[in-house]
Amino acid sequence: MRVEGAIFDVDGVLVASPHERAWREALEQTMATEWRTLAAAVGYHPDSWTTAVYQEFVAGRPRLSGARAALEYFRVPEAERRALEYAERKQQRLVELIEAGEFIAFPDALRLALALKARGVRLAAASSSKNANRFMDLIRLDEFAQREGLREPKVPPGQTLLELFDANVCGRDLPQGKPHPAIFLLAAEELGLAPAACLVVEDAPAGIQAAKAGGMAALGIARVGDEALLVAAGSDVVVTGLDQVAPDVLADGRLERVLANS
Ligand SMILES: [Mg+2]
Repeated sequence: MRVEGAIFDVDGVLVASPHERAWREALEQTMATEWRTLAAAVGYHPDSWTTAVYQEFVAGRPRLSGARAALEYFRVPEAERRALEYAERKQQRLVELIEAGEFIAFPDALRLALALKARGVRLAAASSSKNANRFMDLIRLDEFAQREGLREPKVPPGQTLLELFDANVCGRDLPQGKPHPAIFLLAAEELGLAPAACLVVEDAPAGIQAAKAGGMAALGIARVGDEALLVAAGSDVVVTGLDQVAPDVLADGRLERVLANS
């Protein structure tokens, strides 16, 4: 079946966003000031926040439950109460990093989105994060298209990534998050398309599961060496870079033949 709609997750697919850094720096700052006595009592050291800790306890979780899980990991007492304060500080730090432009868009994802757009595929953004639109609003597509020498599709002057999408359901309040398919089904509905005519591009196993549960095709992008997890989650195809995807083949719905050069 031809792919008529492509639904993109944002963090880890379109944008390398500084969530991990914001979590780490917010805790470091709080432990060095208000929670100073506490920091000494639990033996906290800034180096103990590693990427592995982030992936295991925080990544992909709603903000508050991520905050609580991290504080429990660091043996902070009254983690539930303190999680509120920590989550708020993380959000403040994240906004500072966004405003300082401390993030990048993944060029391969922008190339794929624009190539699909040029082929008449309708595009949607579907992240559970309430920050996704802030990132996308700061990514200038016109400058990207100029740097890449892209002629098709026409990117109007000043156009941002946020303005590229025909539908955007990022940060919508839904009763259930991924791996429940609700967010992707809503995106398909707002594109005016049947789920079976849509392809989801995701970097997280929970997102792949959500796409398949919604009856959609799923393209997994493994940016951190996690191909096996994305395959196990049910991806129709997994790539380590979105330039491995031939847009014509993909738009034709021939997912099994999508790996152009790998
Ligand atoms: Mg993601």
